[in-house]
Amino acid sequence: MKVAVVGGGIVGLFAAFHLERAGAEVTLYEEGKPGARSDHAAGIIEPANAYRTNTLAFLRRVWRFWRGGTCTFRSVDGRWLSASLRELERDPIPGTDEVLREMARTSVAGYEELAAQNNDFAYTLKGLLERYDHRAHFLEDQTVATSKDSIVPVEVREGEGWAGSLFYPSVGWVHTERFVQRMLRELTQTQIVCQRVDHVGLDGTLQVGGTTANFDAVVVSTGVTSRKLGLPLTGVKGYGWHVQSRAKVEVATIFVDRGIAVVPFENELKVTGGWDFDLSDRLSHAPSILAAVKEVVPVDRVLSFGNGSRPCTPDGLPIVGRKGRLVIANGGFRLGWSFAPALGKRAALLCTSQTQNDPFLSRYCGSLHAGPI
Ligand SMILES: Cc1cc2nc3c(=O)[nH]c(=O)nc-3n(C[C@H](O)[C@H](O)[C@H](O)COP(=O)(O)OP(=O)(O)OC[C@H]3O[C@@H](n4cnc5c(N)ncnc54)[C@H](O)[C@@H]3O)c2cc1C
Repeated sequence: MKVAVVGGGIVGLFAAFHLERAGAEVTLYEEGKPGARSDHAAGIIEPANAYRTNTLAFLRRVWRFWRGGTCTFRSVDGRWLSASLRELERDPIPGTDEVLREMARTSVAGYEELAAQNNDFAYTLKGLLERYDHRAHFLEDQTVATSKDSIVPVEVREGEGWAGSLFYPSVGWVHTERFVQRMLRELTQTQIVCQRVDHVGLDGTLQVGGTTANFDAVVVSTGVTSRKLGLPLTGVKGYGWHVQSRAKVEVATIFVDRGIAVVPFENELKVTGGWDFDLSDRLSHAPSILAAVKEVVPVDRVLSFGNGSRPCTPDGLPIVGRKGRLVIANGGFRLGWSFAPALGKRAALLCTSQTQNDPFLSRYCGSLHAGPI
């Protein structure tokens, strides 16, 4: 069967990987360089730490980020905003937690399997430390992290110069740029076309560079631009740098109240931050995020910079579903890397009709329509 994957971010790369494994003839369309809009991420793999955004707790977090200078509001998708308000504090449908847990297991297994073959992407399982500036925020998150509903092992750490810290020993991280290179090496049979797709149909047609191409199925994994096909999605932009630093950082660390992540590699750190509700290409907030990074770790030299957007659904949880010949895999939000293996795998299964829409995961797919993208 002939399948097109539109969008070579981390989700599209995994979709192509699973389709190729299933024996499909895969063409991957990416308007830029594969992975370039995903690889700015910190690469912390923590799918079991998913949380909903249609909650007052999330609004409080965003408010705190805004007051601290981490977050700006420039533009949001109108359909996303009205759905988010409509669904505020609405519980997800029964069974959602189990679906997410299964996605989390599949995703972690996906990275582990590739690392077991050859860990050329620095998959490291040393845990995640979350540090808090404010005692009240620490206590609020500690209550959630240690509640009976939480399945993620956590240790509470006091002192160490912070208002409190939570340590998740089972969390790992990857070197995102190296992982993209690994995926490109895995995709030996996939045809990669570095070209923008202009229009997507529900009938398996694509318009690319003035010509029409036909496929048995099309996976759209274009991140936030998928909103043009009728999905309520908005983008929360952020920035990532590789830096040299004299700081000794042992484990991935998130400075929760500042929205900053620091991930250690052999000779460098990856530092990320920024929560900009912004659908434009503007990067003007990046310098002040780097300045905020320098308040938590010294930066001796900046080695590289990248940026991208967290594709966010009204409840902040992933979507993967099919309508006609079109399959959508999206909504990774702050955990796009963490959920990508499961999103890609499920997208492949939907293309090959080996599974059907799940009521939760396909919840916004009824509104999908053909259109320019
Ligand atoms: C600062 C920051 C740190 C993060 N850290 C983490 C982390 O530690 N762990 C984690 O799990 N997640 C993290 N994330 C989230 C994660 O990066 C995103 O959820 C993820 O990148 C989304 O991947 P995607 O493939 O869905 O979309 P994208 O990465 O946006 O990829 C979509 C691709 O589609 C292409 N495209 C778009 N339109 C077209 C078109 N018309 N034709 C062809 N190609 C097209 C784009 O060029 C792009 O390459 C972070 C995000 C940010 C901003």
